[in-house]
Amino acid sequence: MSRLLEIEDLHVAYGHIEAIKGVSLNIDAGEVVAILGANGAGKTTLMRAISGLIHPRTGSIRYRDKELTRLGADVIVGLGIAQSPEGRRVFGTLTVEENLRLGAYTRPKQEVAGSRDEIYALFPRLAERRRQLSGTLSGGEQQMLAIGRALMAKPQLLLLDEPSLGLAPLIVRGIFDALRDIRQTGVTILVVEQNARMALKLADRGYVLEVGRIVHAADSGELLASPEVRAAYLGG
Ligand code: ATP
Repeated sequence: MSRLLEIEDLHVAYGHIEAIKGVSLNIDAGEVVAILGANGAGKTTLMRAISGLIHPRTGSIRYRDKELTRLGADVIVGLGIAQSPEGRRVFGTLTVEENLRLGAYTRPKQEVAGSRDEIYALFPRLAERRRQLSGTLSGGEQQMLAIGRALMAKPQLLLLDEPSLGLAPLIVRGIFDALRDIRQTGVTILVVEQNARMALKLADRGYVLEVGRIVHAADSGELLASPEVRAAYLGG
């Protein structure tokens, strides 16, 4: 497998608060990788650093041998990395369809309708609600829309920040089933989750982040079986 993303000794700070303290990790093309961690561990900060929404102090983030740390978020989307942010962040006063279109701003116009139809096939609920204002969607539908909007950029690497946040178990299962379908299409996925069990069932491998540092890195099966991970993240 070819290396898609390589992060080396990354440090990210907000003023004097260091949120990421020397993180190194890698992702190969076609993999699904999970990052687990409690509130405040630095998961969102790490995602934002990859997407170019925040610039690290030091360290490197290489994507297909291109250094990302000084590039803008729009350039990074164009290179093939799209993020579905925590808290979904859909544009509530725009319709489902308008939100999807916004996700495609880096794409040639003639490809947009085809991609939109692929998203509707993946999430039929969104197709039914295409003219509905996004602010009136349920939490699960907004999550589908946030993922769909990221996919409209046709990313090779999809970054998902807490796709299960605040959703009922049945809805979470639906979202994760869709993520399995997305992976089948060849998209590489980096998923950040507090719902460790769901994330590890989907992922090939995982990293555990604790106050800005990676403390475990292993195959999902190994993490699911690890007594420390079980005690801290899987409810014993
Ligand atoms: P959560 O699951 O609660 O979102 P997280 O693992 O995603 O947590 P981050 O949001 O990355 O964690 O936060 C990591 C650390 O950085 C925390 O200590 C947080 O308080 C701090 N932090 C995050 N954003 C800012 C900011 N804009 N300014 C100052 N400190 C911040």
